[in-house]
Amino acid sequence: MRLTFDYHTHTVYSHGKGNIEENAVSAKEKGLSGICISDHGAAHPIFGIRSRYLDKMKQECQQASRQTGIEVLLGVEANVLGISGKIDVKEQDYDKFDCLLAGIHRFILYDGIPEWLSLGAGNMFSQISKKGPSQKLKERNTKVYINCIKNNPIDIITHLNYLVFSNAVEVAKCCEDYGTYIEINTKKVHLSDQEWQDLVDKTNVNFVINSDAHSTDRVGDDKLAKELLQRVNIPLERIKNINGNKPNFLRFADFKEKL
Ligand SMILES: [Zn+2]
Ligand SMILES: [Zn+2]
Repeated sequence: MRLTFDYHTHTVYSHGKGNIEENAVSAKEKGLSGICISDHGAAHPIFGIRSRYLDKMKQECQQASRQTGIEVLLGVEANVLGISGKIDVKEQDYDKFDCLLAGIHRFILYDGIPEWLSLGAGNMFSQISKKGPSQKLKERNTKVYINCIKNNPIDIITHLNYLVFSNAVEVAKCCEDYGTYIEINTKKVHLSDQEWQDLVDKTNVNFVINSDAHSTDRVGDDKLAKELLQRVNIPLERIKNINGNKPNFLRFADFKEKL
């Protein structure tokens, strides 16, 4: 298995260490055919990307692509703001992006106090509590993911269930229905081996492997994915950005065409 396109890399425009050009050079050195720059959405009070930088980022992606000869896309890792599934990327900015990723993060500006209590504090407490996440919290988190996938043209759900506990199979079924991919994140382990096996066996969802690199040296890192594939039987044909293949992202592209 060889990772050939990394769709999730961060730069200094959020809280990555490298700039766009450095990420592209690193990707080229690792033999990738392309990367996507996917910094955090604006609801992150400190690290979120600001609309005013998007044109500059796009130009830097084009320049980095010319310089390295690999594809350099501009995406965004949107934050999910609450039970409605609303994200922090405005439709008016969609034309600036090539693909749309979304993940649930803590320490962001949620859509209100109840959302903060549940998604932020609720998940944080359930993580340290001996009892683990309650059924009610899991059901609510599942709804958050599902509403996000249904209501926004998301190409990739990032690090599903990382510090947020949902019914992963239900989320994956929704991804399958809508044509959204589930990320195998190589920065952190975010699902148990059993959960991965269930996603493979009980759904037909497709996957992409992404580094979630916050430093240039990690661009294209696939170590955790390789280890996962040793333990869990994930058919390689369901992982769409390896061995020279590319996923056929349609959701965001189709949506933009209709705008
Ligand atoms: Zn993330
Ligand atoms: Zn990320």
